[in-house]
Amino acid sequence: MSRAVDVDAYAEGVLAGHRPTLARAITLVESRRPDHAELAQRLLVRLLPHAGTAHRVGISGVPGVGKSTFIDTLGTRLTAQGHRVAVLAVDPSSTRSGGSILGDKTRMGRLSVDPQAFVRPSPTAGTLGGVARATRETMVLMEAAGFDVVLVETVGVGQSEVAVAKMVDCFCFLTLARTGDQLQGIKKGVLELVDLAAVNKADGPHEADARRAARELSRALRMLQPVHPAWRPPVLTCSGLTGDGLDDFWGTVLDHRAALEEAGELEGRRSRQQVDWMWAQVRDRLMDSLLAHPRVREDAPRLESGVRAGELTPTLAAERILADFGAGGAAGQGD
Ligand code: GDP
Repeated sequence: MSRAVDVDAYAEGVLAGHRPTLARAITLVESRRPDHAELAQRLLVRLLPHAGTAHRVGISGVPGVGKSTFIDTLGTRLTAQGHRVAVLAVDPSSTRSGGSILGDKTRMGRLSVDPQAFVRPSPTAGTLGGVARATRETMVLMEAAGFDVVLVETVGVGQSEVAVAKMVDCFCFLTLARTGDQLQGIKKGVLELVDLAAVNKADGPHEADARRAARELSRALRMLQPVHPAWRPPVLTCSGLTGDGLDDFWGTVLDHRAALEEAGELEGRRSRQQVDWMWAQVRDRLMDSLLAHPRVREDAPRLESGVRAGELTPTLAAERILADFGAGGAAGQGD
């Protein structure tokens, strides 16, 4: 079979919502082989006109906050309402451990066997940049295959929230009942990205605490610059276990979308994300080729120890590395 036929067959299969083809197409997009990358880009160009219609919602929160339970319950409600729900994950820790802790099918018992849903674990190969790229491109495949809700899950550590916030329409943050000092443990950088926050596990004896924590978090969020002037991030309470508050949660996601659309901001947000994504890939690839450059590899250890020993300024060492790469003269001019 020639390559051209492959791409056509993949595109047709994905557009028809054929699950085995969709799964193979995702594997192609996740592959880091150069010949696969070229095929994947051709496939994506074919499918892009059929994508872009889904609600893209990020769900973040530390391990144990109840993300998979929440997504399982929310996703099952949405499929019952006639939606087709895809669950993707950005979990850079999976690249280190070799196994994904997110999107693991056993963690979403109902959704993973729901014919109207597709649960895909985080890609396990590569850097955060690589995982984020594969997830974004998988989102295109999912949308082309007719999934109208894409939930992107991430663990609340490191830079993965930033990566997810940059690929969704609505970035949601799940937390637990915390008050005062504990609230300060939530990274400000994460709160600045939040479109919607929810205090989860607001059930049984925890309910009153959860409401109190939601009020405090709401005050903390009000002190930050909102992501967009048309929207002040609300703080809800919910329970992924009982399902309480989930209708309100989804209603608020829809309100957020309507507010962005009314302000003409949804398309703007998405096109800015695409341009950011372009530059992020340029940065990643430049960095990859720089680190692989033979002269850089040869000089870097010596330069690093020079900087460590205080014999060389970081700026001079950076200039040497850029000169090795053939991009000398750039360092030190920008700042
Ligand atoms: P994740 O690591 O964020 O995906 O969290 P999980 O969904 O795996 O949940 C972690 C633990 O919290 C599990 O033991 C769940 O049974 C429990 N849990 C999850 N959601 C809720 C909830 O809404 N209420 C209560 N009480 N427990 C929950």
